Amino acid sequence: MPAKQANILLVEDDKAMQSFLTTLLHSQNYQCACFANGKDALSHLTLQPIDLILLDLGLADMDGLELLAQLRQWCNLPVIVISARERELDKVKALDCGANDYVTKPFSAAELLARIRVALRQKEPVVSTWTFGDVVLDPVARTVLKNGEALHLTKTEYEILLLMVRHAEKVLTHNQILQQVWGPAYLDRPEYVRVHMAQLRQKIEETPSNPKYLKTEAGVGYRLCF
Ligand code: CA
Repeated sequence: MPAKQANILLVEDDKAMQSFLTTLLHSQNYQCACFANGKDALSHLTLQPIDLILLDLGLADMDGLELLAQLRQWCNLPVIVISARERELDKVKALDCGANDYVTKPFSAAELLARIRVALRQKEPVVSTWTFGDVVLDPVARTVLKNGEALHLTKTEYEILLLMVRHAEKVLTHNQILQQVWGPAYLDRPEYVRVHMAQLRQKIEETPSNPKYLKTEAGVGYRLCF
């Protein structure tokens, strides 16, 4: 079974739980790296190949859901949330944020291992940065470099660019962009996209009036070309 030898990232701030889970994972021949806070876990992810993440929700430096939301902007790795929060609402929130599965503490070792085996079968590769032309987008640092120099993008411009990069070479409609960046209440505001796309082109493109990367698909939306 491919689950053996898998690298598991454990994000958990409770010492006793860290120790229990590390022992359990090692007993099954999984490699395991453990971090008590979200920032360190995120940086580790960009440096080491990881196959699956076990995520506690109550961390020292951030809520696990916040980490999950950040992670899901650039990474499709399976994430199993392990939490003492047992309300249905908490589970729904975690799944909506992109968790693959949810295990409530206390749990049985056998149950957790079974969920890990299932999640490992669904794994997709991790991406650390995207490069197109002279532009490099780093989704962990949330930076965009052009010719090695930092571009100062607004939050909205960054989110549009990240969305376009994640769906490179595909047409995204005005509504898809509005839905993802602004939310479902803004579906009748295509001018929002036009204005911000124009600003983004000013920053990204050599010739904004004749864009090389952020192309218009007339009457439909936009496409990022590499
Ligand atoms: Ca905790």
